[in-house]
Amino acid sequence: MAASPSISTLLRRFDRWATPVLLAVGVAVFVGEVMRPLRRRTRPRAERWPVNVGLAAPSLVGMRLTLLPAMVGLTQVAARHRWGLYRLNLPAPVRVLAELLVLDYVSYSWHRLLHAPFLWRFHRVHHIDLDMDLSTGWRFHAGEMLASIPYRGGVPALVGVRPSTLLAYEAVFEACTAFHHSNWGLPIAVERALARIMVTPRAHGIHHSVVHRETQSNFGVVLTLWDRLHQTLRLNVPQQELTIGVPAYPDPAEETVMHLLELPLAPHRPWARPDGSEPERASQPGAVSQLAE
Ligand SMILES: [Zn+2]
Repeated sequence: MAASPSISTLLRRFDRWATPVLLAVGVAVFVGEVMRPLRRRTRPRAERWPVNVGLAAPSLVGMRLTLLPAMVGLTQVAARHRWGLYRLNLPAPVRVLAELLVLDYVSYSWHRLLHAPFLWRFHRVHHIDLDMDLSTGWRFHAGEMLASIPYRGGVPALVGVRPSTLLAYEAVFEACTAFHHSNWGLPIAVERALARIMVTPRAHGIHHSVVHRETQSNFGVVLTLWDRLHQTLRLNVPQQELTIGVPAYPDPAEETVMHLLELPLAPHRPWARPDGSEPERASQPGAVSQLAE
């Protein structure tokens, strides 16, 4: 049997094809949100983007140097020991489909864990952005990347996902993250059709709402299937009624790279405005699973 490629060989190949693809997706989404914005901005782009880039840079470097090699390395351990799916003789297309579904369910369930108290320390850095656009899709604390290694690397390995499928899914994950964080106002008919299957900008906008009940919905990354199964799907909130952010962090002066990097160490704040009131929405018209404008 031929020796399997090393982690660095697999990642160099991944860099070669995924970098141009993801750059193209980023440019397309950026053009979309500039030409056809979905929600009104509350802060100028020039104020938020340098901060978001300042957080994204260490996070992306951390992902490439730690999370990706760890995930690939763990799937190689699984291949050597023939864990999980390696022991079933599945036809090739069924095997790939099973792997992709497992990977996307890992993303959904990991995102739910990020909203639990300990991991929220990191994930709130992403959520307290006062607007949501393409740059929010890369604004994660580097600690969140490190913290995700045991779960996002361990579970796929135990299930027997192959390194090639893992890296292909990772590119889809990144492309979808850029897309659904964008402020791109797609025609409602197009987005309604897409939201039957995948997470869209309007759907994910609701996840970034200051209304707690709304933040506790739409955890999916690629497919909306998992939110449907767990009854965490909520599509009936009109975008013009959304306020993006976390009510305890309304102050743009707190939005500095240094402050945000230190935020995981800061005490927990309750889900309320500084005056103690909690944002609510009076009316919720329409079926929860019908995407509102
Ligand atoms: Zn979240």
